[in-house]
Amino acid sequence: YTDAQGRQRTITANEARDKNKAAGQALGQSVVNKMAKPTLDDAGSTLDPSQLEEAKKQVLALKEQYNITPGLAVIIVGENPASKVYVNNKHRTCEEVGIYSEVISMPADTTKEQLIAKIDELNYRQEIHGILVQLPLPEAIAKEEADILNAIFPLKDVDGFHPVNVGKLMIGQDDGMIPCTPYGCLKMLQSAKINIDGAHAVIVGRSNIVGKPMGQLLLAQNATVTICHSHTHNLKEICRSADILVAAVGRPHFITADMIKPGATVIDVGINRIAPKKLVGDVDFDNAVEVAGAITPVPGGVGLLTIAMLMQNTINAAKLQLAK
Ligand code: NDP
Repeated sequence: YTDAQGRQRTITANEARDKNKAAGQALGQSVVNKMAKPTLDDAGSTLDPSQLEEAKKQVLALKEQYNITPGLAVIIVGENPASKVYVNNKHRTCEEVGIYSEVISMPADTTKEQLIAKIDELNYRQEIHGILVQLPLPEAIAKEEADILNAIFPLKDVDGFHPVNVGKLMIGQDDGMIPCTPYGCLKMLQSAKINIDGAHAVIVGRSNIVGKPMGQLLLAQNATVTICHSHTHNLKEICRSADILVAAVGRPHFITADMIKPGATVIDVGINRIAPKKLVGDVDFDNAVEVAGAITPVPGGVGLLTIAMLMQNTINAAKLQLAK
């Protein structure tokens, strides 16, 4: 390469590593650097204020133009401590952005019928534009999860889990709700100006909340998408062919450096608690950062944007309901 003085030079292995490392940190930092006012969640992550600032502006505009304040209702059933922290974070972020927020706590022995009756009440309340049922549900009603989530009107389904919204994402109709985590991953790629068009995107994980919608979103952006799972043969080779690699497995350090193509963009969705105060992703970050072109850290990467995208979905829901 040509150095700053115009001399021809050959890059050394150490220089290459440093260069990759700097670039590797850039994707996470493209979010991290913008943090003027960090908001900590229990994962120790910080929301990207640029997304929240954007949300604030939209909330103000809705108020000024239509005298509408977007409203979000979050239902929490039982006493799961992690869920309580997540729900509090959502409530706090709503307040920060100017979204009206209602947290509805129901006892652990709530029946499916009682929960659906509460959802239905919210479905018909005009000041509530988004409804979210915090998961996981207590064991007694966990197997009824699909029926419960399907009771939310699709227009108010800010998690994007309702089959109508899943279908809209699948056929490319843009008036549906997109699940917050993959929506955040897409925003992150776009804000870091990573080329998606024509890129080979490999997603490890095929859950309904991350892997599958991530695949659809990237496909809609003209990536060539491969979705891998626990039955995939030759996982390492497939991952190594990825220009964009998304890890959503739920296993600490599952993606190792030798599974990454040099220069690839790596998005780590995983949140794994390996000790009471230690969270790690699905990617072996310390080694992967040497190889990747850009990589998101855990904590502090994707987790940052998930709540911000919930705010955006609530605003989108208010706009869609206004248009109906
Ligand atoms: P799920 O458990 O629902 O899905 C995990 C996926 O990984 C499955 O598709 C599974 O395959 C696949 N998998 C498991 N083992 C292997 C393997 N050995 N090889 C290849 N694939 C494998 O998890 P989620 O999608 O809900 O979550 C994934 C991770 O993301 C978790 O760590 C979770 O905590 C985190 N997460 C983070 C969020 C955030 O805001 N940052 C939000 C949501 C989740 P199969 O289908 O064959 O079983």
